[in-house]
Amino acid sequence: MADHYEVLGVARDASSDDIKRAYRRLARELHPDVNPGEDAAERFKLVTHAYDVLSDPDQRARYDMGGDNAFGAAAGGFGGFSDIFETFFGGGAGGGPRGARPRSRRERGQDALVRITLELKDVVFGVHRDIEVDTAVVCETCSGSCCRPGTSPVTCDICHGTGHVQRQVRSLLGNVVTSQPCSVCQGYGTTIPYPCATCQGQGRVRSRRTVSIDVPAGVESGLRLQLPGSGEVGPAGGPNGDLYLEVNIAPDPVFSRDGDDLLATLEVSMPDAILGTHTTIESLDGPVDLELRAGVQSGDVLTIKGRGITPLRGSQRGDLRVGVQVVTPTRLDHRERALIEELAKRTKPAPPHLSEFHQGLFAKLRDRFRNG
Ligand SMILES: [Zn+2]
Ligand SMILES: [Zn+2]
Repeated sequence: MADHYEVLGVARDASSDDIKRAYRRLARELHPDVNPGEDAAERFKLVTHAYDVLSDPDQRARYDMGGDNAFGAAAGGFGGFSDIFETFFGGGAGGGPRGARPRSRRERGQDALVRITLELKDVVFGVHRDIEVDTAVVCETCSGSCCRPGTSPVTCDICHGTGHVQRQVRSLLGNVVTSQPCSVCQGYGTTIPYPCATCQGQGRVRSRRTVSIDVPAGVESGLRLQLPGSGEVGPAGGPNGDLYLEVNIAPDPVFSRDGDDLLATLEVSMPDAILGTHTTIESLDGPVDLELRAGVQSGDVLTIKGRGITPLRGSQRGDLRVGVQVVTPTRLDHRERALIEELAKRTKPAPPHLSEFHQGLFAKLRDRFRNG
């Protein structure tokens, strides 16, 4: 460590006034608020420490005998420093603004957002997912302390652990003493002389991990599920933020959603519509038997109870509603055409005519095609 007399540029027999004058001169030049350079900050620390020791008759005597109780002096309270400020700025600068404390390195981590895409089937039944998330986790090397193992933070020489420095500012109202975060320790009150190499002194590292989640049935696109405490770990091992999963539901090629109901179109050939039939459809639950009565019409809606979506709150499943669409044959061979003509002759069907518009179903079918 540099000799305190050399640091201040005074002789070994300098008077206390000489020492104070030397310190004031150097402090004006090197104080971090005046001179933001890193070299200056380092020198200012040395100068301040030298002054702390040499301005105290007891410490100076001990130093002259070869003992430099540097850390004892630094940790011994703020007296020396506020004295300096009073000397330097002409009083008024106490040991720190009332209530001001150094800020903590430990802070709560940020929330994290992950988007997941579900299939409609997952929405009907709920689904278990293991998702990979990249977030900050506690550094294993230093357990969040930010320090190389075996070392620890030391009290900041500049603010003596308060995290604040004071300075006098001229204003229209006269000279005002303001308190600012200490620029040497960034307001923490301590510095880390040997930062952990793994995390560069951040106390946390980025890592990929797997989060398991049970997505409940009935969720909707855009919904965010909150997993408290599963977000980013904070600086210096601070508490975790929350993890949010934003749900996106991929469009299904067959089924669409209407609240807790599922909608689909059932295409029925003309002969089946005329004669009726027994069929099996593939719902999201698996096969469902369906009876089509003879003479079923386009626009008829068949409701299959309880084959819809389980609501997010509640257990009563919605229904599966199937809109019938009779498919008119478009390519008939000669024989088929003759049969239809014979049918027309026999049944003498009414000519095309107007009736009431089937608002409900057509609206739904239209929506389905637009959304689907
Ligand atoms: Zn670390
Ligand atoms: Zn400081």
